[in-house]
Amino acid sequence: MVPLAADFEPGHSIESARRALAARLQSAGIEQPALDARLLVGAALRLDLTGLVTQAARQLTAEEAARIEASAKRRLAHEPVARILGAREFWGLPFQLSEATLVPRPDTETVVELALEIFRGLTISGPRPRIADIGTGSGAILLALLHEIPGAFGVGTDLSLTALKTARDNAAALGLADRASFVACSYAAALRGPFDLIVSNPPYIPSAEIPKLSIEVREHDPHLALDGGNDGYDAYRALTPQAAERLAPGGALIVEAGQGQARNIETLMTAAALVVDSSPKVDLAGIPRAVSARKMPP
Ligand code: GLN
Repeated sequence: MVPLAADFEPGHSIESARRALAARLQSAGIEQPALDARLLVGAALRLDLTGLVTQAARQLTAEEAARIEASAKRRLAHEPVARILGAREFWGLPFQLSEATLVPRPDTETVVELALEIFRGLTISGPRPRIADIGTGSGAILLALLHEIPGAFGVGTDLSLTALKTARDNAAALGLADRASFVACSYAAALRGPFDLIVSNPPYIPSAEIPKLSIEVREHDPHLALDGGNDGYDAYRALTPQAAERLAPGGALIVEAGQGQARNIETLMTAAALVVDSSPKVDLAGIPRAVSARKMPP
C-alpha cells in the first residue's frame, strides 16, 4: 500500500490532494468517496466549495498537508465525516456535535416536516406555542422547529449533561437561546405541560442489533441514543404516557420510528389514550418514519 503521506505532501496541489483522498477512500470501500474527500479537504483548509475550485492549483503548505493526512486516517478508520468535522447540517442549519449526541440524520427531517404540518392546523393553548423535545441530543429537532415557528418556546430534555451543553451551544449559535431551555431528566419527568407539540427521536434499535450496525454508527454514535432495549420499544413505552399527560388538549405527539416500528408505536399511543393520525409520514426512502397522535379535548 502506498503510504498515505505521499499523496498529501507539501507542494502537491489542493486538487491532486482531493483526488488522491477520494481514490484512497474509494479503495477502502467508503460509500461516498468524492463527497467525503471534498468535505474533509475543505474543512482541513477552511475552504468552501468555491474556495476549493478557485484555489485548486494552489500548493499545500506543510501544515495543511498534515491536517488532511490526519482527517484521512480518521475517515479510513470509518469515523463519520460529521464526527471529524464536529458538525453537521440539519434542516439547513448548522449543528455542533459532541460524543454524547447522534449525528442528525436526514430521515429525522421527516419528524420536523410532520410537526410543522400538524402545527399549521393547531389551535394554540396559551399565549405562545410550547414545544417539548424528549431526548434532544444536539437539539436538532427542537431548534429546527423553533427556527420555523417564530414566537414558540421550547424545552429539550436529555439524560446526558454533555448533550445538553451541546444543545445549549447550538441554541445560542442559532440565535434561539432566549426561546429554548434544556433540562436534565429521564424522558419528560421534569417537565410540566401543557405543550402544543411534543417531539422525540428516542433510542429505538433493539440491543442485539447494535453490533450489526455500520462501524460509523456502532463505534461513533452514543449507545444511550441508539439502544431501545430488548425489542427496541423501551423508550416509546416510557415516553408515550408521559407525553400524553403533558400535552394540551388538541396537542400532538410526533415521534421518529425505526424501520417497521410504526404500527407498534401507534398501539402504544392508543394505549396512552391518544388518537393516532391517519398514517405515518414516510422518509425519502419511503419508510414510515414519523408517527403522530393527538390528545383529544376532555
Ligand atoms: N436512525 C438511527 C440509526 O438507524 C437510530 C437513531 C435512534 O435510535 N433514534 O442508526
